[in-house]
Amino acid sequence: MSARSAGVVVAIDGPAGSGKSSVSRASARVLGFDYLDTGAAYRALAWRCLEEGIDTLGPADLIESLPSFEYTIGVDPDNYFVRVGSETVTDDIREPRVTHIVSSVARVPEVRQYLVDVFRGIIASSSRPGIIVEGRDITTVVAPDAPVRILLTASEEARMGRRSAELAGESAAATSSELSSRDAQDSRVVDFMNAADGVTTIDSTDLDFDQTVQAVVSLVRSST
Ligand code: C5P
Repeated sequence: MSARSAGVVVAIDGPAGSGKSSVSRASARVLGFDYLDTGAAYRALAWRCLEEGIDTLGPADLIESLPSFEYTIGVDPDNYFVRVGSETVTDDIREPRVTHIVSSVARVPEVRQYLVDVFRGIIASSSRPGIIVEGRDITTVVAPDAPVRILLTASEEARMGRRSAELAGESAAATSSELSSRDAQDSRVVDFMNAADGVTTIDSTDLDFDQTVQAVVSLVRSST
């Protein structure tokens, strides 16, 4: 099964720090599309494990907790929010304590299957002319039939530089080691460093933010 939507599905994958989230959101705004950040769901689940003391290393409790995971995300690029139950966790899910454990939550196959179904449900209910969906496995697993599939990359140096600029207060060294260890853990589960067949690579190493958005928007316009 693949992701179905009345509108155009644009699938964007890439490593941490490639700018996928901000580029996807800005591109959705330009195109009048919805925007789905899938990493937020893995983060929200990791946040809930911390809040409720659910063990993320032995996955039995985590798997058992999935049916009661009440997750809501805003797909309007101008009204982004993340909720678990009635609690708004938009900022909490970016905390380092969540980032540290998110990969161990994301490597559990039952978690992935559960969230892939959640993502397909959100994609199916989009009412705009299109939806940009970004993550690690969107071009290959969540929406392999999407008419536009992009791998957004940048050199490791550029990714680390951008991420350190975002995270004021954390040292550049801590940032780069966090980023490479998360990429290393994540890439054991999904290959998001190499473009699958039919996926267009956009390398943003030498592009500024607006140029990267323009590259995505042009590709969407020329492919649909
Ligand atoms: O994109 P972001 O950095 O917020 O993603 C957080 C984590 O969620 C990633 O490090 C990865 O472990 C997981 N993830 C995933 N598949 C996705 C999106 C995110 O495994 N489609």
